[in-house]
Amino acid sequence: MELIFASNNRHKLEEISKIAGDKFSILNLKQANCEGEIPETGETLAENALQKARWVYERTGKNCFADDTGLEIDALNGAPGVYTARFAGENCTPKDNIIKTLALLEGEKNRKACFKTVIACIIDGKEYLFNGEVEGDIATEEMGEGGFGYDPIFIPKGFDVSFAQMPLDQKNKMSHRGRATAKFIDFIQTLL
Ligand code: IMP
Repeated sequence: MELIFASNNRHKLEEISKIAGDKFSILNLKQANCEGEIPETGETLAENALQKARWVYERTGKNCFADDTGLEIDALNGAPGVYTARFAGENCTPKDNIIKTLALLEGEKNRKACFKTVIACIIDGKEYLFNGEVEGDIATEEMGEGGFGYDPIFIPKGFDVSFAQMPLDQKNKMSHRGRATAKFIDFIQTLL
């Protein structure tokens, strides 16, 4: 089954393709010839995920899905949440976001955080939503080179290494996106 993923993020595509397995062919936006800037103006992860999936469906008419992720940090009253990608400013880099997060938490003992992902898919014109979460702590400094985004400073609960220090298979088993993707793929299998 072919599914268009509303993203060009190669890390995410790799994570999701690994979980989905051989029965699915997952195309990114470039591969699906779906160009342009996808709007992301929702106030919740679900609104953003649906907005991205609908944008692709309106242009291609093909089965597709989108994800949206937020990092909620206890000591920051749940920030950056839906603003996780743009935490350090409109055109910021992942490194800028990490520097800002570490600076805001300097000297803070409560480092609890939660990554949340919502996947929205549109299959034969019908919309479905799937959620995944992982709890953890924000590290006091960057740990590891792998992964992407906030991976070097996110230590999942029960571990003493960051997502950036784990093999992809291990991250996928417990991560926010891994959990949401597993639910999504289980559901899609029932439609095959
Ligand atoms: P998006 O909504 O999926 O684009 O993600 C929002 C923000 O969370 C971006 O800054 C991403 O880099 C970050 N992010 C999403 N998923 C992960 C992850 O698995 N690990 C670390 N950072 C992530």
